Amino acid sequence: ASGYSLLRDPQYNKGLAFTEKERDAHYLRGLLPPIVVSQQLQVKKLMQSIRNYEVPLLKYIAMMELQERNERLFYKLLIDNVEELLPIVYTPTVGEACQKYGSIFKRPQGLYISLKEKGKILEVLKNWPERSIQVIVVTDGERILGLGDLGCQGMGIPVGKLSLYTALGGVRPSSCLPVTIDVGTNNEQLLKDEFYIGLRQKRATGQEYSELLHEFMTAAKQNYGEKVLIQFEDFANHNAFELLSKYGTTHLVFNDDIQGTAAVVLAGVVAALKLIGGTLGEHTFLFLGAGEAGTGIAELIALEMAKQTKAPVEETRKKIWLVDSKGLIVSSRKDSLQHFKKPWAHEHEPVKDLLSAVKVIKPTVLIGSSGVGKTFTKEVIEAMTSCNDKPLILALSNPTSQSECTAEEAYTWSKGRAIFASGSPFDPVEYNGKTFFSGQSNNAYIFPGFGLGIVISGAIRVHDEMLLAASEALAGQVTKEITKKGLIYPPLSSIRKISAQIAASVAAKAYEIGVATRLPRPENLVKYAESCMYTPVYRNYR
Ligand code: NAP
Ligand code: MN
Repeated sequence: ASGYSLLRDPQYNKGLAFTEKERDAHYLRGLLPPIVVSQQLQVKKLMQSIRNYEVPLLKYIAMMELQERNERLFYKLLIDNVEELLPIVYTPTVGEACQKYGSIFKRPQGLYISLKEKGKILEVLKNWPERSIQVIVVTDGERILGLGDLGCQGMGIPVGKLSLYTALGGVRPSSCLPVTIDVGTNNEQLLKDEFYIGLRQKRATGQEYSELLHEFMTAAKQNYGEKVLIQFEDFANHNAFELLSKYGTTHLVFNDDIQGTAAVVLAGVVAALKLIGGTLGEHTFLFLGAGEAGTGIAELIALEMAKQTKAPVEETRKKIWLVDSKGLIVSSRKDSLQHFKKPWAHEHEPVKDLLSAVKVIKPTVLIGSSGVGKTFTKEVIEAMTSCNDKPLILALSNPTSQSECTAEEAYTWSKGRAIFASGSPFDPVEYNGKTFFSGQSNNAYIFPGFGLGIVISGAIRVHDEMLLAASEALAGQVTKEITKKGLIYPPLSSIRKISAQIAASVAAKAYEIGVATRLPRPENLVKYAESCMYTPVYRNYR
C-alpha cells in the first residue's frame, strides 16, 4: 500500500510514531513532519486535549475521531485511562451521543440493516470489510439505556459496547461487528427531525419484524459460522425475551440486559454480604422495575440461592419481590401480567407503590431497574434504613439522569449507612467528615470477559451455569481491602485482569458442560485467556 493510504487506514496508522525505517520502507517520507514520537507521548498529548474539552459530548466526538484515525492509539488511551474515559465512550455520555447521533454523525461505524435490505442481508454482511467475526452486538434501538426509542441512532450503543469488548476484554477489534436493525421508530421527535438518519416510519411489528430479524439471524450464522456470539442489546422487553428464547437453542446468543446485568448484580450482592452479613438465602430483595434487567437479575439470584440452599427455585423466588409501574407484582393483580413477571406474582394483598412495598416487605436489598430517575426518594431510603442496619441499595438505571437516586442522596438520606452502587458512575461523596466511594454496578464488568471466555473456548451455546461462573469469578475478585472501603466491585483500573479471570471461569464451565469446541482444552485457562488478549501496542512494519 502507498504511504498515503497507510496514514488513512485506522488499523495501520501510527501517525508521528512511524519510525525512520518505516517512513523509508512505506513511502511515508514527506507525508509526515520530521519528528518521531512514542505512543506514550501520543497518549499524553491526546489525554491533554481531551481534558481540555469541558463538554463530555466533545470528548466523545474526539474519541470517535481518534478511533477512525488510529485504532491502536484509541485502545491504548482507553485501556490506560479506563476510569476516566469509560464515562465518555459508555454510559452516561454515549446516551447523549445517541440522542444527537443525527447531528454528530460523520462517518458510519458498524452495519445498518433496515427494512430496505430485506431479502439481501447476506449480501449486506459481505459488504463489511472483515471476514472473520467473533462477536456481534445488535440493537434495534427501541430501548436505548433508559432513554427510550432512539431508532437508528441507537448505533452508538453497539459501537460503544464493542469498544469495551476490545478494551476491557481483549477481543480483537477486527473481529467485532456492531449492527443496528432499523425497522422504524415510534419516537415522534426523531420522525420530525430533519437530521434523523433512520427510516422515517413507525416501527414494523409482528411478522414483518420477526421476518427481518430471522433473516439477520440466519445470515449471521451462515456467514460467520456457529461460533459467532450474537449479543442482543437494548431491545424493548416485548421482543428481548422472545428473541432470546427463540434463538437460544439454535444460535450462540446472549442478552446483556437480561443476563449480563444479572451476573454483575449477583456478584455485587455476594460481595456485599461481607459488609451487610448473612447468607444470600437469608436476604429479601425488592426491585423497582420488572423488565429485562429486573426479572433477569431476580432469576439469577433465585438460581444461586437454590444452588446454595438446595431448595427448589420455586421456593427461593419467594424471597424476591418486584414492583412495576402498576405496583407490587402479586398473584391477585387483575391486569394480565406479561409472562416474564408471572414467576414473581407471589401471594400478597395489593400494594400500590414502592414506598408502601418497602414498608410491608421490609427488604434488605433494594434494586432499581426501572429506567426512571429520582424514584428512590428520601422516604424510600429512610424506610430502607429504618428496617436495616446497612441497607444495600443499587440504582442501576442509565444514564445518570435516569438513576433511581444519586450516591449523595443514598449516603445522606441513610445517614451514611447505605452500601450503594449505581449503573452510571458517581463521584465520591463527603458526608459527616467521611468520604464514601460507590462502585459501578454495570454489565461492563461482565460481558467483555464473558465474551472472551466464549471466544477462547469456542463455545457454541450460552448456559445459565456459564453466567453463574462469570458472576462467581467477578465476586471472587473483590478482596478484603476493597470491601473495607465499602465497595462491592473491584476497581475498573484492573478490569483486564478481572476479564481474564471471568473468561477462564466461563471457558472452564463451557468445557465442563460440553459446549466448548476448541480442543484440546488449554491446561491453564487464565494464562491462555491472557495470552489471547489484544494489546494496543504498535506493531513494527517491515
Ligand atoms: P424494561 O424491560 O423496559 O423494564 C422497565 C421496568 O420498569 C418495567 O417493568 C416497567 O414497568 C418499570 N417501570 C417503568 N416506570 C416505572 C415507574 N415509574 N415505577 C415503577 N416501575 C416502573 O427495561 P430494562 O431493560 O429492564 O432496563 C431498565 C433500566 O435498567 C434502564 O434504565 C437501563 O439503562 C438499566 N440497565 C442497567 C444495566 C446496568 O448494567 N447497570 C443493565 C441493563 C439495564 P411496566 O412493566 O409496568 O411497564
Ligand atoms: Mn443495555
